[in-house]
Amino acid sequence: MSLDFSLQQQLDERRRQSLYRQRQVVDSPQGVEVEVEGKRYLSFSSNDYLGLANHPQIIAAFQQGLSRWGVGSGAAHLVSGHSAAHHALEEELADFLEYPRVLLFSSGYQANLGIHQALLGRRDRTIHDRLNHASLLDGAKLSGARLLRYGHSDLNGLERRLSEPANGRTMVVTDGIFSMDGDNAPLPAIAEKCLSRGATLLVDDAHGIGLQGPQGRGTVAKFGLGSTEVPILMATLGKAFGVSGAFVAGSEPLIETLIQQARTYIYTTATPPAQAEATRKAVELVREGAERREQLQKMVAFFREGAATLKLNLIHSTTAIQPLLVGRSKDALKLSEQLWQQGILVAPIRPPTVAEGSARLRITFSANHTESHLDQLLEALAACSR
Ligand SMILES: *Cc1c(COP(=O)(O)O)cnc(C)c1O
Repeated sequence: MSLDFSLQQQLDERRRQSLYRQRQVVDSPQGVEVEVEGKRYLSFSSNDYLGLANHPQIIAAFQQGLSRWGVGSGAAHLVSGHSAAHHALEEELADFLEYPRVLLFSSGYQANLGIHQALLGRRDRTIHDRLNHASLLDGAKLSGARLLRYGHSDLNGLERRLSEPANGRTMVVTDGIFSMDGDNAPLPAIAEKCLSRGATLLVDDAHGIGLQGPQGRGTVAKFGLGSTEVPILMATLGKAFGVSGAFVAGSEPLIETLIQQARTYIYTTATPPAQAEATRKAVELVREGAERREQLQKMVAFFREGAATLKLNLIHSTTAIQPLLVGRSKDALKLSEQLWQQGILVAPIRPPTVAEGSARLRITFSANHTESHLDQLLEALAACSR
């Protein structure tokens, strides 16, 4: 059987199961409205939570950065690609987060692979929440460490895992806000268990950074925790910060170890220095972004009220991620298509991204949404359920 023939059979099977995925070709910048095939759609499907992805001041910083630095970084950080712009961004992030040091990665996916691979080996174990992001799971697999999992935010489950005998290092890993459910991890209780058992806690705050806590310092700061309780804090720069890339914050020895050992840091080209300049401006806007965060919270509250009136099956979440639980992939796909017909973009999320039978529409909000946008969404959802 030829490769193409067998691939086509698999693809056809995927389509039959309503699991086939397709990309929309977007003809406009990211925003609460996007253009696809000449038509405008109201978007509730972006992680650009603070509306910074198309912000004039960040665009200007990127452009000035291009004039100053040119386009490419030319090499990996350890060769000759680590510019003063990257270095300044690392220092500004460390200052913002009140962590000793920060290390930039080209993406969050790479950061999570690198952390696991650099810090863990066969003799070690890593204990994960069952709903952790795919990049964390892949990092655990790559590291060769023993992977143990506990039920979603189940503290007793975590306790049982921690009490199993172990020889090497133990790293406990959780999302700060879960990417497909929108709920917060119970970080204070998790951190306490880690401290009392001598385990190291890694928090992936991709969806909390910039949004929660004082000045948007994230889920760790929101709970009054810091580098003692959460020695490894990872987050991305492509969501609330509106740009791209990621970072790890931690102690001096931790960051130095990642520089020496993390292969996804060492063997990849540094992001363009101009991008670092744009991100420096984004950090500034995030720190001063109290009004944006308030507007976002208002939108979330407004939507939840409207959804309650419509008796929509929302997952309990108070964050910008408001998943509407549907169940079957087929039905999630259909609902998404019905909204699309009404000029609204909300992507369906299906297995394996979420558990079998829990397909959903992942509705996300931005500080640039208004009540009128939400009224349109609620009306469209009401029309679908009629
Ligand atoms: C988006 C995301 C990542 C990956 O970050 P990228 O920079 O997009 O590669 C990692 N973890 C979580 C929880 C995420 O939501």
